[in-house]
Amino acid sequence: MHNKLFTPGPTEVRPELLNELSHPQIHHRTDEFVELYDFLQVYLKKLLFTDNPVFIFTSSSTGAMEAAVTNGVKKRCLNLVNGAFGERWHEIALMNGVPCDKMEIEWDKAIKPEMIEEQLESGKYDAITLVFNDTSTGVLNPIKEIGELIKKYDDVLFLVDAVSAMAGTEIRIDEWGIDMCLAGLQKAFALPAGLAVASVSERLLKRSEEVEKRSYYFSLPLMYKYHKKSQTPVTPSIPQMIALKRQVKDIIDNEGLENRFLRHGELASCVQEWALKYFDIYPETGYWSQTVTCIVNTRGISVSDLNRKLVEDYNCMIADGYGKLKNKCFRIAHMGDMTLPDIKGLLAVINDILGLE
Ligand code: PLP
Repeated sequence: MHNKLFTPGPTEVRPELLNELSHPQIHHRTDEFVELYDFLQVYLKKLLFTDNPVFIFTSSSTGAMEAAVTNGVKKRCLNLVNGAFGERWHEIALMNGVPCDKMEIEWDKAIKPEMIEEQLESGKYDAITLVFNDTSTGVLNPIKEIGELIKKYDDVLFLVDAVSAMAGTEIRIDEWGIDMCLAGLQKAFALPAGLAVASVSERLLKRSEEVEKRSYYFSLPLMYKYHKKSQTPVTPSIPQMIALKRQVKDIIDNEGLENRFLRHGELASCVQEWALKYFDIYPETGYWSQTVTCIVNTRGISVSDLNRKLVEDYNCMIADGYGKLKNKCFRIAHMGDMTLPDIKGLLAVINDILGLE
């Protein structure tokens, strides 16, 4: 029996998209593949409001995070941390021998531009990493405003993890000055895990030519060389790309981008309202994610018992708090192709289990 996923990745995948995975295979050095690659470029650029190429990684999002710091840092990077994935990016930089510092604030607070002004002015850094929507906390950091600030510093690259926001929350890459914006497909794209996409600016490509070479699989110059031929350097996950083709077409041509973002807003409001009525919301007000809500366990319930009942009696599941927030919080995802009745149904079932009125 399938358990419907209300987890912040992987998310529920529509049967139509699952069917696309069984499409007869095509070879990655053929015109048919070039056509597929070009199609994805057109639609992903529309989705991200960018003219930059969008590279396709056959890896999870962490691979693209690794590509960002191994290709984008010549001098030193500043890793902004207010959640588990910001911390992960710092660890990735450290393990790859990339010179870096971390600036960490409390995890329930958003990172604001004024918090990083001093570091930028110091001239020490030529790249900044930021997680737009930290899935561990449900904080949505103000990337537009941070991007505006970073634009003042010519040699500083802005590297953004939009893993649990992309395709659910609006991101305007070019307007906001984002040099790399990456995401895996198993979140708001509502596709199976295994493929990541990332927009790559000209500035980042130039930098990647100049840095000490650290990686082959995640070499941006190599990916760019093949991108110019509408191909990838390695054999990619072609079934996933075919499913992605169907999904970006559905998102842009059928649902419409604006409607998709509005729907995510409605789902978020519904969960937030419920959370405030019965529990509390972890992040500070004004910076709540549109795709996942991290709810404070003010009633001291056993989150694992709740999830067990959800699975056993209702065939659906939510997520516990991440890492140090386990059982202190729990998370409900409202992203991808989920509908308002789906979310309302889940909340009604939780009320039933917990005896909430
Ligand atoms: N960044 C964020 C914000 C995430 O939510 C996740 C996964 O949940 C990752 C990075 C890592 O993604 P992956 O497991 O696809 O490598």
